Amino acid sequence: MIQQEMLQYQQLDGELNRIERDLKKNESFIKRRQYKALSQECEESIAKLDARAQDLRNQLALAQQSLQKITEVIEEHSREIDTLEDEDELNYMNKKLNEQLSELNNVEKEIKRILREGEEIAKAFEEASTKLPKLVAGYKHCDEEFNKATAEVKPRIAEIRQKQAELKSKIDPNLFEIYKKLADGGLQPVFVPLESGTRCGGCRMEIPKAVIDAQFAKKNYMKCEHCGRIIFKQE
Ligand SMILES: [Zn+2]
Repeated sequence: MIQQEMLQYQQLDGELNRIERDLKKNESFIKRRQYKALSQECEESIAKLDARAQDLRNQLALAQQSLQKITEVIEEHSREIDTLEDEDELNYMNKKLNEQLSELNNVEKEIKRILREGEEIAKAFEEASTKLPKLVAGYKHCDEEFNKATAEVKPRIAEIRQKQAELKSKIDPNLFEIYKKLADGGLQPVFVPLESGTRCGGCRMEIPKAVIDAQFAKKNYMKCEHCGRIIFKQE
């Protein structure tokens, strides 16, 4: 038989686990997590849009500089053409002027593209900025609801912990160590009764009678070779 205090302690741990599981299944807890992920996503996309907008502003500044230069060169060529009379020179200058006009055309196209992209970004930015406060409000609401649910179970948790502290002072330290190690490893409950004389009360696997007899001849408990729990005999 396992010390009664140990079994009571284990039972209280079981209750704590159930409370924790229930809180995790709580709708506001699940929604809160979803809202958090969505608002993070939204913030990230706003940051990306910001960076893209800055990039476009730089591109626009460069394009405007090129535009300014080309305009100056075109004006200069036009003035020179006015003073020219030789046909070869005129043809040459006309060719140069046409080159500049073609470049001007390209820069204008580039500026149009930048402005178009800018409009798209502004639209996406507007959408994300409208969405974000709603997500933040949703998160806040769920957070409040979840805090209420947590506050409701708090007194019982405190009570359990108090009882457990009292029990622990009476539990054999070696036994408690075995329990802690297995419980922290995820086994719950750790101590289970032998069922129908041949079955593990945890995993319900059959254990040969000879094995049970041999084990219990040495100690008042045995380890289940299937699930690793500690099996004891109920008196
Ligand atoms: Zn078992």
